[in-house]
Amino acid sequence: MRNRPLPVKARAPVTYILYPSGSRVATFCHPEPVEGRRERTAERSAIEAACYNQPMDFAYCYSPIFMDHKTGEHPENPQRLVVINNEVEKFIPRETWPEVWIDPPDATHDQIAEIHTRGHIELVQSTCAKGHSALEMDTPISPLSYAAALKAAGAGIHAVESVMSGKIKCAFCAVRPPGHHAEKDRAMGFCLFNNIAIAAKYALKNGAKKVAIVDWDVHHGNGTQHSFESDTDVFFASFHHWGIYPGTGHQSETGKGDAEGLTVNYPLPGDTGDDKYLSIMEEDLIPKLREYKPDLILISAGFDAHEADPLGGMNVTDDGFKKMTKLLMELADETCNGKIVSFLEGGYNLSTLGKTVALHVKTLMED
Ligand SMILES: [Zn+2]
Repeated sequence: MRNRPLPVKARAPVTYILYPSGSRVATFCHPEPVEGRRERTAERSAIEAACYNQPMDFAYCYSPIFMDHKTGEHPENPQRLVVINNEVEKFIPRETWPEVWIDPPDATHDQIAEIHTRGHIELVQSTCAKGHSALEMDTPISPLSYAAALKAAGAGIHAVESVMSGKIKCAFCAVRPPGHHAEKDRAMGFCLFNNIAIAAKYALKNGAKKVAIVDWDVHHGNGTQHSFESDTDVFFASFHHWGIYPGTGHQSETGKGDAEGLTVNYPLPGDTGDDKYLSIMEEDLIPKLREYKPDLILISAGFDAHEADPLGGMNVTDDGFKKMTKLLMELADETCNGKIVSFLEGGYNLSTLGKTVALHVKTLMED
């Protein structure tokens, strides 16, 4: 984990720092200190120890409302976040580090409308309010799905804002519904609003000049590609199982007009494993990203290319996802001071998903 040291004076052997009484453990690392003398107590030592170990430059964006997007027996269901949170709590317990567990604000209609039509936003709202059970064949909803979708989009915006302002270095958005299939004017493939595209647009309107999006979900990120395929300020790359849903993402899809070359598709055959993913990343994608020099890297982190996933048909291991994460972190360190925001997309094996995502999160938190 990254550690942020206490102020030097706090570590001096005799002089301790007096903080406002009643402060919680985590806020002891931040306030303006008042110098004074104070006996070292067990409580004081515990506070310092907690500060030393706190991953303060990382955010895990999650909201309980994501559980209220009910989808019945569908593979994209609330239990996914239960197993993920259980594993993540093992190294960032919610009770100990509430500052890391961020319950983000909702995205506004205007922020979502940077990517989607107003008609689509209103349709999602009204269809959920009417209690309908699906927006389209693959995309079940429940009455609170609209509220969850506003929050999922808001998570990305909040994470990007925090990273861009330097408050944190990187973040993971443990969100659902996922987003990368959602098109400008319609829901698609379990996705209502395109969380990562909305976040990228927010970044560009708030200081970023170039954003890179890497999508390793096993399905092509059609909605994200279509949002930016004519834009020179977004580089989009997708690894996906060729021949399955949604059917787009041929390697001939390379961007349009001035943005030719800024969309890169890696359609792969079934059973592709770590070696191929990593060699593509090292030999083709990373050099392209290095040349592009993004200010911010976003990851559409689906885990349905995992070897145990029931839908994906690929053979990526936990270690493969870890190594891909590391490669993007090294690139981010090189081009944009490590700024990365990762978004949960797919991943459907409830027995393995928690550990896989937790390893990705833990890797993001490492130096
Ligand atoms: Zn997927």
